[in-house]
Amino acid sequence: MRSSKRSTPRRRRLEIGPIGEGPRAICRSCDEDLPQSTLDDDGWCPQCRWALGKAAARGQHAVAALITVPFAIWIAVEGTRGYFPLYAWAIPLAAAYYLGMRIGREVVRGWVRSRRGT
Ligand SMILES: [Zn+2]
Repeated sequence: MRSSKRSTPRRRRLEIGPIGEGPRAICRSCDEDLPQSTLDDDGWCPQCRWALGKAAARGQHAVAALITVPFAIWIAVEGTRGYFPLYAWAIPLAAAYYLGMRIGREVVRGWVRSRRGT
């Protein structure tokens, strides 16, 4: 994945590639010249989508931990064990982690796309 996007403007032959390959397009993330059909709605090539997916997978656990860990600490420190037996807190903690992952996934995707896209 190359990050030289705006810094090195290059003239490219656009739109029409070799006959039989269909229209060409440039990935908005890595500037690769590819058949347009391989790019997604945001103009990202499969490699960049894959890299984005990996980043989102890492990020979603980070965000989930960010939500769940303070929650777990709060339960431990505040002695909220009085409400439920300790093992019962596993359920809201798991729910918090799951929600954190869902949120984190979207946040990271949006963040990476806004940084790399135009
Ligand atoms: Zn790309």
